[in-house]
Formats: sequence, C-alpha cells, structure tokens
Amino acid sequence: MKSLRPTILLSLIVLGSLASFGITGHFAAEAFIGHQQSRQLNELAEIVVRRSELAVDFAAASLDELAARGLVTCDAASLQAIRLHVYQRSAVKDVRLVNPDGSVICSAYSETLEFDKGWVDRSDMLVSTDARVLLFRVEQFGGDALGVLRDVDRQRSVVAILGINSSLLDIMPAELRGESEVVLGLNNGEKLVQFSPQQDGALADALDVIRTSSRYPFRVTIHLARGALSQWNNEIYWPAISIALALGLVFGLLLTRLKRLEGPVADLDRALLRDEFKPFFQPTFDLHSGEIVGCEVLARWITKDGSVISPMNFIPLAESSGRIQKLTWQILSTALNDMRPLLRENRDFKLAVNVVPSHLLSVNFIETLRRVVMGARVSARQIVLEITERDELHDLDHAADVVRQLRDYGFKVAIDDVGVGHSGLSHLKGLGANIIKIDKFFIDTITEDASTAVIVEMLVRLAQDLHMDVMAEGIETEEQRRALLACGVAQGQGYLVAPPLPFAKFRELLSRRPPAVGAVEDAALVA
Ligand code: C2E
Ligand code: CA
Ligand code: CA
Repeated sequence: MKSLRPTILLSLIVLGSLASFGITGHFAAEAFIGHQQSRQLNELAEIVVRRSELAVDFAAASLDELAARGLVTCDAASLQAIRLHVYQRSAVKDVRLVNPDGSVICSAYSETLEFDKGWVDRSDMLVSTDARVLLFRVEQFGGDALGVLRDVDRQRSVVAILGINSSLLDIMPAELRGESEVVLGLNNGEKLVQFSPQQDGALADALDVIRTSSRYPFRVTIHLARGALSQWNNEIYWPAISIALALGLVFGLLLTRLKRLEGPVADLDRALLRDEFKPFFQPTFDLHSGEIVGCEVLARWITKDGSVISPMNFIPLAESSGRIQKLTWQILSTALNDMRPLLRENRDFKLAVNVVPSHLLSVNFIETLRRVVMGARVSARQIVLEITERDELHDLDHAADVVRQLRDYGFKVAIDDVGVGHSGLSHLKGLGANIIKIDKFFIDTITEDASTAVIVEMLVRLAQDLHMDVMAEGIETEEQRRALLACGVAQGQGYLVAPPLPFAKFRELLSRRPPAVGAVEDAALVA
C-alpha cells in the first residue's frame, strides 16, 4: 500500500500533465487553424478583388483607347468601329456615349438598351480612388452588369458595360464550394454578381469575410457556413495534438522527477551532501572484568535543527535507494577520523561497523575499504565488519570468498543478529566469519526462559568448534551479564555499560573507564 500510493500520485501527475497539455494543444491547434483559415479566406477574397480590379482596368483602358482614336461620336462609322472594338473584347458587352449627367446619347449596340431595367444618374455613380472612372450597376434583364464611366471632355463621357462573369468569383476550394457563396458588390451595397455553387437557400450560421478594393468602390464578400471550416485545412490538428501530448508526457515525467527531488530520498541526498550522518559509539566490553575492549559504530542522522534520527528510519531507505554505500563510507571515515588516536594508541581496541550484505558483495568493496582504513592510518586488524544475518545472503559462496579475502587482509568479520536471521546455522559455518553476535532477542529472555539459555549455550559451542568469538548485544542488566557468562559468552555490548554515544561523550567515558590493553584475542578461550 505504501509503495502503491506514490506510484498512483506519480501516475496522476503524468496523466494531469498529459490532459492539460492535450487541452492546451487542442485550443492552440484550433486557434492556429482558425488563424490560418481566416488568412486563407482573406487571400481568396483578395484574389476576387484583384480580378475585378483587372476587369475595370481593362474596361477603362478600352475606353481610353476609343477616346485616343477619336471614336467618341455617335456617327455610324464611329459606332461601327466601336462595335468592332467591343466585339474584340468579350468582357465589354457594349459602349455608350453619355452626357455629363450620365444620360445615354447613343449606344454601339442600340438594341441592348432594351435590356436595361434602369440607368443611374451620375450623382449615384461611385468614383474610383484616382477619380478617373465612375462605377455603377447596370440592371439588365439578362443579369446585372457593371458600368464604367470615363470622361472624355466636359461635354462627353463614355461608358463601358462590363459583363462580370460569375466564374470570376469561382475561387473557393473544393471542400468549401458547396457551403459558400462569393459576392461582388458596390460600396453602396448593390450586388453586382454572386457565385454560389450547389447552393440552395441561405447559408446557416455563416461567417463573412469581406475585402474592399483600395482602387475601386467595390467589395468582395465570402459567405461561408461555419460548419464547413471544421473539415478544411485541419490536417495539422492531430500532429499538433500528438506533439502537445508528447510534450505533456515529457513535462509530466520531469515533474515526477522534481516531485522525487522533494521526497525522502532527496532528503537523504541533501543530508549526505551536508555530512549530517554521524557515527555514535557504543562500547563493547569484557563480561568478566567489565573492561571496554572496543566499540560498535552506529549511525545517527543529526538534522539541521539538532534532532537525532535513529538508523532504523533511514538505513532501509538508504539501502533500497542505493545510498547505503556512500552513507557507510561517510560514517566509517568520520568514525576512523574520530577514533584514530585511540586506535593507534591501543592496538587491541576494536572498531566494529555495520555493512549491509549488498554492499559487502558489491564490486570494489574490499579495495575501497582498504583505501579508507589505510588512508586513516588504522590497522585492518582493529576493524570488525558486522554483516547482518537478518537479510538472506543469496550468494553464500561469493560472500564466503569476500570474507576470506577480508580476513587475509587482516579485517575481522562478525555475523550480526545471529539467531533471528534466515540463514540458519549452516550459513554460520559457510561464511567463515570471526565473530558471532547473538541477537538482543535472546539476551532479553535469557534470565526468564530456560530454553533461551540452551540456545545460547549451543551457539557458544558451535562458535568454539568454528574457532569464532561470541558477543552478546543488548545487555541491560547484571543478571543478563551473569547468565551470559554462565553460558560461556565472554564479550558483550549494551546499556549496562553505555548506550551509543556521540564521540565527545564516548571519549569521556573512555577517560573514566580506560579500555583494556592486551585483552585476550580469543574471548571464547577465556570462557
Ligand atoms: P544492530 O547492529 O543490531 O545494533 C544494535 C542496536 O541495538 C543498536 O540500535 C543499539 O543502540 C541497540 N542496543 C545496544 N544495546 C542495547 C541495549 O542494552 N538495550 C537496547 N534496548 N538496545 C540496545 P540502533 O543504534 O538503533 O541501530 C539499529 C540498527 O541499525 C543496528 O542494529 C544496525 O542493524 C543498523 N545500523 C546502525 N548503524 C548502521 C550503519 O552505520 N550501517 C548499517 N548498515 N546499519 C546500521
Ligand atoms: Ca551491529
Ligand atoms: Ca542486532
């Protein structure tokens, strides 16, 4: 359950990040697509504006040419020449000579006058930006046309009747054609021509894109059903969403890393950096004389505010998070540094450190240990490595090999917590250690439970057979000390003499109770 909760939390962080990036990606893609669509629609309208401007330019140029050729009279020869001119220019349907007020004097094709539904006064005509032409709608039965008026002189003007083919407005892409209409109209609101393919009835929920000519008084309007846009030019949508989701995933994973940086492992790392793990020292003593013969180094985490955290609260995490090696070397180095004078002064004094099996079996363990111990100028013979028997030693052969090498270099090896571990007595034999440390569990009950005493006696006998020393841990009372002595245990450790102490206190204790010098190496022999 404990390990499940962080997993769920981290999954939620990743999912949350995916969702928010997905949603943002959706809106960003929509906005981008919307922007692109509007730009493209404006460009399309602009195309119609250009085409229409071109048509008017063409009409005005035709009129200029007629004027230049002097063909602005109503005589038969002129009108014939004008008809030829019109014939050669398909967009121009007719040319008319008009009075300054706009009223018609004559027409190249006089019959076309019959098709007119009306004719506007000059005052209703719209002037071009450069004031060279006037534009107006010519309502005709066969469809409206655009009148382009050009003054020749004060008395006369010519008008080109420009037929605007609705195909001029056929610019919409295939996806939008059915849902759109394009309208060319004058700036006074009159409609000139409309292009609406496959379109019956008004467009529902239409949006308008309007472009006005800067040169002539007309405008182009694209009416478009909004629904059609969802299918148009949205190829970018799914790639954009995929990119957003990928970014969301990366961001989420980064967040989980950050989250981890705030977790207990990050606290461990910070503590390692700040050197907050300190060795405490608990004396080991001779059960006969009570003399101190060595000490066990026990880790404490001294936090910034001075509080002391017990090893059970960080050793398992340090081990599972891969920090135990760094922590062990840090503790051992400090301990050696603290204890160097005493260790060098009293060559029988033993310093025991706890090493987890995974660290013992790791590559370079022996090399690093030697470097640390020799670097502190302390003899390997004074260092005891305590390997707990609580955790199973998976590779006993490998472990035995490491123990053998350690012993070859002079180090001592103790099996810790004996009696409560997984490995059983056969492992004690196989490992080849120097010392067995009987677990506090037995010491707690040795005065009350006869079977405990029997087990302790058994362990002592086994140790003798294997030429190992025996140490009892957690001795709190005089009775326990005596009971252990009766079972043949010669050395011990416990509150009876002292709890684990910070170095300064431990040194004080040693000054009060000087450690034994020349203590017998094989305590079992004493027993
Ligand atoms: P351990 O190696 O079995 O250490 C003995 C534990 O028993 C220590 O607990 C010690 O304070 C406690 N103890 C000693 N005498 C008495 C006593 O008379 N009465 C009672 N009630 N307790 C006594 P501590 O220091 O809390 O350490 C707990 C465990 O944490 C150690 O058990 C050891 O397995 C681990 N540990 C401590 N320091 C280190 C370290 O530097 N490295 C590693 N790998 N493990 C460590
Ligand atoms: Ca220990
Ligand atoms: Ca123990």
